[in-house]
Amino acid sequence: MSRNSVRADAQHSRDDLVRALRSAGLRATSPRVAVLASLRNRPHTDAETLMRHARQELGTLSPQTIYNILGAFVEAGIVRRIEPAGSPALYELRVGDNHHHIVCRRCGAVGDVDCAVGKRPCLTPVETHGYLLDEAEVTYWGICPTCQRRSGMTTIAGSNRTTATSDHPIRATGDRR
Ligand SMILES: [Zn+2]
Ligand SMILES: [Zn+2]
Repeated sequence: MSRNSVRADAQHSRDDLVRALRSAGLRATSPRVAVLASLRNRPHTDAETLMRHARQELGTLSPQTIYNILGAFVEAGIVRRIEPAGSPALYELRVGDNHHHIVCRRCGAVGDVDCAVGKRPCLTPVETHGYLLDEAEVTYWGICPTCQRRSGMTTIAGSNRTTATSDHPIRATGDRR
């Protein structure tokens, strides 16, 4: 691919982001577009990482600005916020499909797992205690392929249904056993 077409693609995808913001009723400010762009490239990213990326592009940005942007995105329904235990909140653009997450206990890598049912709540509890349930939050915990290889474990999973976006970690946060 030539440099020019790379740049044309970048411009094109920036236009998409601007459109996505506007159709969610949000003004397409540069910080918002930058945060959305890095979320598109890296799902399940924390606010601090998003801030670092946005700063590379735009210079100074306060943490408060990033949190405000993310809050507005979540409220507008274009971004989903997840909070795996022991991790800072993570953000992603995949919304509205009730997908679940698979998290590595060692390195914190996060992948998406399609919901077999597709709508909330996808697990029926034995007892609802009179609550009107609207969600079952499912997180699968385990050891990712990279960490298995690193520690010489044998992989059982040849094919699986996860759609992890990277073979390896979005964030490395050390050992969390
Ligand atoms: Zn891992
Ligand atoms: Zn996800």
